[in-house]
Amino acid sequence: MNSIPDLPPAERRDWIAGLIGDFCAGPANTLQDTTDERAWSAPLVGFARGDDPLWRQYKEVVDPDHWTPAEIFASTFPGTTFEPADLTVICWILPQTERTKADNRVETTFPAERWARSRIFGEAFNSLLRQHVADTLCVLDCQAVAPHLSPAWSRRDSERYVFSSTWSERHAAYAAGLGTFGLCDGLITPAGKAMRVGSVVARVALPPTPRPYTDHRSYCSFFADGSCGECIGRCPVGAITQAGHDKLKCSAHVSHTAAFVRERYGFEGYGCGLCQTGVPCESGIPVAKWARP
Ligand code: SF4
Ligand code: SF4
Repeated sequence: MNSIPDLPPAERRDWIAGLIGDFCAGPANTLQDTTDERAWSAPLVGFARGDDPLWRQYKEVVDPDHWTPAEIFASTFPGTTFEPADLTVICWILPQTERTKADNRVETTFPAERWARSRIFGEAFNSLLRQHVADTLCVLDCQAVAPHLSPAWSRRDSERYVFSSTWSERHAAYAAGLGTFGLCDGLITPAGKAMRVGSVVARVALPPTPRPYTDHRSYCSFFADGSCGECIGRCPVGAITQAGHDKLKCSAHVSHTAAFVRERYGFEGYGCGLCQTGVPCESGIPVAKWARP
């Protein structure tokens, strides 16, 4: 029977990171423009334990129906006997390319074409990557599921948080040591906030990536020392204030971008991300204490 390579745990993590990196280096990572330009720069990869206490806390702070890794694993593989500690959540960050960020930086109302393409075709690649990682591990006798691709995954209205879902990729990445939240709700990672996230829950026990931060907002200058707030001015519809991110205003604007994208760029899409570009946390961690070279 095929199996995941018989390596020490830390090297197994490297093997999985290589699986993700190799797929990102392949032809599927494309903006689907005339030159098949890359949608994403090289990924960051992190790992969280399946029995991390954070997953239970997410039922309080994300949604009562937010899955623990054990819940989505058990419903995907009914009848399987396992312990939460047998599971690892594999997460990745797909950073926007320098060209995409440069294009979006100069926009003030609607997304640049590269940004809109990454939102649609880049996210389609992200889903292929989720499936590729889960399928590859399953073939190697390591049961794995991408929660975001599960037919049971749903997004819903939330009394407390406006919108929530049964699996938040950004919260999974937070658990996997990959970043903390900013004033605009985006996840600030060592590669910045201009990125997208993916994850897979796998039946393999691996050492988790340390969470260097002490708070879920450590990497945002506004929460660190009251400075910055530059994402407030980047939002064309006033959806970000010192009180945080107005998801309804944001969502309404993003929906309105669909007509613009169709008419200007000639494909069905949408996007915004203005608050993710042209700000100090666009491409790295702005708080000196946490910044990485
Ligand atoms: S732009 Fe400034 S205030 Fe806004 S999320 Fe980034 S660091 Fe925080
Ligand atoms: S993504 Fe939302 S919050 Fe950010 S700039 Fe656009 S409308 Fe504003």
